[in-house]
Amino acid sequence: MKMKTTTARLKLRKGDRVRVLSGKDVGKEGAITRVLADSNRVIVDGVNVAKKHQRQTRATMQAGIIDKDMPVDASNVAILCDKCGPTRIGYRFDSDGKKIRICKKCEGDL
Ligand SMILES: [Zn+2]
Repeated sequence: MKMKTTTARLKLRKGDRVRVLSGKDVGKEGAITRVLADSNRVIVDGVNVAKKHQRQTRATMQAGIIDKDMPVDASNVAILCDKCGPTRIGYRFDSDGKKIRICKKCEGDL
């Protein structure tokens, strides 16, 4: 029987610091501002910025170019460990059986 859970397959969370591994922003680092679990994508502050030409409307009050962070595929970013830099996420369980994310390289908590 398959367990149905709402736990996202996505290991990344809002606020995580990540580095971009591919695409036009490769090497850039930023914090995740939004996780789109359904599409397996994340929005990272300052990454994959699209310049949107905005025409003045009554709603915006302002015309010009607006920077908008576009989602990137979660597989194209790596979480940053304080010690190791870009790494992979592993898990350990604490004494209460709670799942805790760890760095797969140094096994420190993420
Ligand atoms: Zn580490």
